[in-house]
Amino acid sequence: MANQRTIAKTVKVSGIGLHTGVDVNLTLKSAPPNTGYIFVRTDLDNFEIPASVEYISHCAYATTLLRRGVVLSTCEHLLSALRGVGIDNCFIELDNIEIPIMDGSSENFVALLERAGIKEQDSPRHSLKILEKVEFEQGDRKMSVEPSEKFEIECIIDFPHPFIEKQSFHFVFENGSFGREIASARTFGFTEEIEMLRKANLALGGSLENAIVLTPEGMLNEGPLRFKDEFVRHKILDIIGDLALLGMPLLGKVKAEKSGHAVHASLMSKLLKTDSAWEVI
Ligand SMILES: [Zn+2]
Repeated sequence: MANQRTIAKTVKVSGIGLHTGVDVNLTLKSAPPNTGYIFVRTDLDNFEIPASVEYISHCAYATTLLRRGVVLSTCEHLLSALRGVGIDNCFIELDNIEIPIMDGSSENFVALLERAGIKEQDSPRHSLKILEKVEFEQGDRKMSVEPSEKFEIECIIDFPHPFIEKQSFHFVFENGSFGREIASARTFGFTEEIEMLRKANLALGGSLENAIVLTPEGMLNEGPLRFKDEFVRHKILDIIGDLALLGMPLLGKVKAEKSGHAVHASLMSKLLKTDSAWEVI
């Protein structure tokens, strides 16, 4: 049976928030067994916000946590990296409201965690094992989770854009697969949305350095896509990051079609309310 893991040493990185545009310094520190991931706002007397489904506040364009009036925004790409490389316990200190966006993927966070190193701990790892299928549907957006011996995700996206159209990908979580197949897939947005987002005070830190920006016929970025199906791979990155809010690794098969952060949140809360559908092993 596998043991829990934390990071071996403290590491730091700085960047800007995708939506707020603010500068933020991030420090990752090792944490004792059974801590999970805890965000610590060092600018607010070290106020702690655990990475947990119960603190999900809203999910428009990013997953935002809220505890007693204190906000923590855009946590999904960092949580995806932590879960993706198999870290169970970590303190995530930051001195502003939003996790830095880096290059729009989880690649920099994975590199940071590799620099930190992994430390195996004395307690066995817990997993959330799925016992029966739970589904959530909202119009043509669907997500479900069902029993499997592995953590796997089957994802389909469909955008009327020549670079995307219908893309599907089946991800199986096993040694190194996150780093190889998912971590470097960048977030993406559409030029026609950007004006609307900025009016809503969102995407203020967004640029071609941290997102794929799609025009109606092509994209503004000069470099090539990192994968032909980078878009669906990023969606899987987001799903892994949002599911990390369950507080432990998932043992089950996730199917997602045209899902987004709000659908991920709804499925998780339905799952947790359905006692017969899971057990902690
Ligand atoms: Zn994302």
